[in-house]
Amino acid sequence: MERITHWIDGKPWDQATVSTRTAPVHDPATGQVTAHVDLADDDVVQRAVASARAASLTWRRSSLSQRTQVLFAFRHLLAAATHELADVITAEHGKVLSDAAGEVTRGLEVAEFACGIPHLLKGSFSEGVSTGVDVHSIRQPLGVVAVISPFNFPAMVPLWFVPLAIAAGNAVVLKPSEKDPSASLVLARLWAQAGLPEGVFTVLQGDRVAVDGLLTHPDVKAVSFVGSTPVARHVYETGTAHGKRVQALGGAKNHMLVLPDADLDLAADAAVNAGFGSAGERCMAISALVVVEPVADALVARIAERISRLRTGDGRRGCDMGPLVTAEHRDRVVGFVEQGVAAGAELVVDGRLVEPDGDAGGYWLGPTLFDRVTPQMTVYTQEIFGPVLSVLRVSTYDEGLALVNDHPYGNGTAIFTHDGGAARRFQYDVEVGMVGVNVPIPVPMAYYSFGGWKSSLFGDSHAHGAEGIQFFTRGKVVTTRWPDPSHGGLNLGFPTHE
Ligand code: NAD
Repeated sequence: MERITHWIDGKPWDQATVSTRTAPVHDPATGQVTAHVDLADDDVVQRAVASARAASLTWRRSSLSQRTQVLFAFRHLLAAATHELADVITAEHGKVLSDAAGEVTRGLEVAEFACGIPHLLKGSFSEGVSTGVDVHSIRQPLGVVAVISPFNFPAMVPLWFVPLAIAAGNAVVLKPSEKDPSASLVLARLWAQAGLPEGVFTVLQGDRVAVDGLLTHPDVKAVSFVGSTPVARHVYETGTAHGKRVQALGGAKNHMLVLPDADLDLAADAAVNAGFGSAGERCMAISALVVVEPVADALVARIAERISRLRTGDGRRGCDMGPLVTAEHRDRVVGFVEQGVAAGAELVVDGRLVEPDGDAGGYWLGPTLFDRVTPQMTVYTQEIFGPVLSVLRVSTYDEGLALVNDHPYGNGTAIFTHDGGAARRFQYDVEVGMVGVNVPIPVPMAYYSFGGWKSSLFGDSHAHGAEGIQFFTRGKVVTTRWPDPSHGGLNLGFPTHE
């Protein structure tokens, strides 16, 4: 049985001294245990952070051209490894291969953005702020930063943070999800091949013990977390209480608002793609479809017809949708379906009846469509994180907008309409961090920043883009005088411009 371990000091951790706690890693399409992953205890956390700390002291002094060379090499190697990574992701997460390759591509975009670090780190300069005095600003790395990632994007989410943090001169300790830990080790190997010095990128495999060890370690200066809202809140509160800079991205319940003038075929395609892609295990998945009457009957019929054409099965067989990540998670999502039925929602398509193209032991649940869901039902109030799409019928735009704004989550949302005025009003009024206009999954490009509002993000920095650079550096302002000719003089007053 394969043993998946940590990556410390630029190489796989010595097997002889691995911690005794491990967790099984499954192939979700078969239900088989394919490996065991080491779960770090405190001694390994200490060792990983010490290695990163030592490396950060040298790496922060590396020139921008040295860093850029490593980043360009990493970008090149990552692009070449797309299919290798996709295979690894599909084997442990279950998403279909094309989707796995897609997440690598979106992560690659951040690596490309980070290649521009010499420009991104430029400070500002003011000549002559006082007689013979100049001021300039610089941004410097923080030291050791931790990245804690969820199961649903084992390559893309680490790549939202790691290239920028490294480009800015930090050392990174990545704690991936224990459910699909192998992609992190492919990334580690690529960084090493790209010429990154030992210890600048570390992978710490583990569970909450490793997370809490990082959150309380005095040498960890910042934490980028992505995961469910309860854990994001814990990470934010614990990390900030220990003096760290924290950005903690949490869960989601993304609404798609369809106005009566929308192109219903476009809207139906979008709802199905964004609702069931990656089996709904995307933080930007659409899970609530809010339809302004009188078009709900027509839209629901179109969606149901499209679902009937989807193939659920093993992600390696060219299917449209794969299994859920674990048996427990599949059962939890089925529990939500049962609650929806019990609460009186109309079950238009029942994913429990799916006949998958895959092994009987896989964690299957087909696309599920509920109509006439009300705001009180748990299928609406809770994040389900599975292939369950709920339709809510409203009478007006304002009623639809109020639903979106009253929901505790505020990650992504979309409006479908031909009315530019309504779309413009929506983008202004909606209390959500990422908005699509006739675009169902509005994930920003790397040079913009990714993140939600309300219970979808704790902290004040979003991921990547300008906010990413800001997060992984701290500012310094330098006031300079080169006396010429030299003269001083005593003056105990507060310095002002002269
Ligand atoms: P999770 O919260 O269970 O786990 C995330 C990370 O935290 C993992 O590395 C895990 O090992 C660790 N962890 C789990 N429980 C912990 C605890 N009690 N204490 C400390 N650490 C703990 O999330 P998940 O199931 O891996 O991922 C799915 C969730 O992530 C969904 O809620 C989804 O919406 C969210 N997500 C959000 C975004 C976003 O950008 N906002 C992106 C992707 C996923």
